[in-house]
Amino acid sequence: MSENKGVWVFSENYDLTLEMLGKGRKIADMLRTELVAVLVGSNVQEKANDLIKHGADKVYLVDNPALERFQSEAYLSVLHNLTANYKPDILLIGSTKNGKPLAARLATRLETGCIPDCSRLSVDEKGRLIGERITYGGNAVAKVTFRSKPQIATIPGRAFAKLEPQDRNGEVTKLDVKIEEPKTEVVETKPLETSSVNIEEAKVIVSCGRGLEKKEDKALLEDLAKILGGQLGNSRPLAEDRKWFTEWVGLSGHKVKPKLYVACGISGVIQHVAGIRDSKMIVAINNDPEAPIFEVADYGVVGDLYEILPALTEALNKQLQ
Ligand SMILES: Cc1cc2nc3c(=O)[nH]c(=O)nc-3n(C[C@H](O)[C@H](O)[C@H](O)COP(=O)(O)OP(=O)(O)OC[C@H]3O[C@@H](n4cnc5c(N)ncnc54)[C@H](O)[C@@H]3O)c2cc1C
Repeated sequence: MSENKGVWVFSENYDLTLEMLGKGRKIADMLRTELVAVLVGSNVQEKANDLIKHGADKVYLVDNPALERFQSEAYLSVLHNLTANYKPDILLIGSTKNGKPLAARLATRLETGCIPDCSRLSVDEKGRLIGERITYGGNAVAKVTFRSKPQIATIPGRAFAKLEPQDRNGEVTKLDVKIEEPKTEVVETKPLETSSVNIEEAKVIVSCGRGLEKKEDKALLEDLAKILGGQLGNSRPLAEDRKWFTEWVGLSGHKVKPKLYVACGISGVIQHVAGIRDSKMIVAINNDPEAPIFEVADYGVVGDLYEILPALTEALNKQLQ
């Protein structure tokens, strides 16, 4: 029998840690094992009880001023030390820019496998973790499992829901771990100029594609977004080719999950749709009735966005008056 036990979660992103605890709780209950949150940072101990309220049975706390900011070698050495000593069965790591390479490097050190970007998780009859991930440019879903332990999977934001906090008891263990001396040094950090701040959290997104002729025409979308309390989004060519934005929505960009996604002049090829398929409602405005966006849209308007958008904005304005 394997000596590995317990479901662990770790992310340097606190919200994502809570989301993974939500799913981790279900998996731990299914496997009749404990759920452990790994809390790493500087002056983070006050979060430990909150992690227990959100489903953790145990918190392994590594609190050290050297861990104030994410630094890959330092965090890797902490996670390597803990996993090598306590041997979890499953380790879920937040699929952030930092978390993904961390998971891959940890898996290499532990000589085990890693499934990146799992949008679903389940457990098979042998108790092995099954991760589902989008593959082939968004055209297929791969189901992957493990032949080794610990089973490491990375989890994107908003794949799973947080649990409502409850009054629960748990154990907080403070651990003193040797931290590897980093081989790199951050020389400078600059805030990124973004066109779509926090778009992944947006409840409403009004998004434009190559159907938009000029950069100034963004104002049409901004007017609608303002009424709907939403943010602007865009397809990749508007960022990469036209340089009107710095980021985009889709397979290689932001995966969004709004209540409402309004796609204006976006054809809806698979690479774009891969980033919007979790939207609650998709409304498409496109002058080509054959545009693939209509296959995924809940509501479709066949027409010129230069006519439809001002009319829609005006109608909504009237409704609100
Ligand atoms: C590896 C890879 C990853 C990629 N990742 C992404 C990604 O993450 N996100 C992404 O968006 N793309 C991505 N792409 C690019 C993707 O393949 C498409 O090229 C892109 O999504 C098309 O953008 P679009 O819909 O704005 O443009 P188009 O495909 O040119 O569509 C424009 C649409 O506007 C409509 N239109 C034109 N004028 C009007 C008008 N006046 N009124 C109404 N409708 C009008 C047209 O009918 C057409 O349907 C990726 C490609 C590759 C190869």
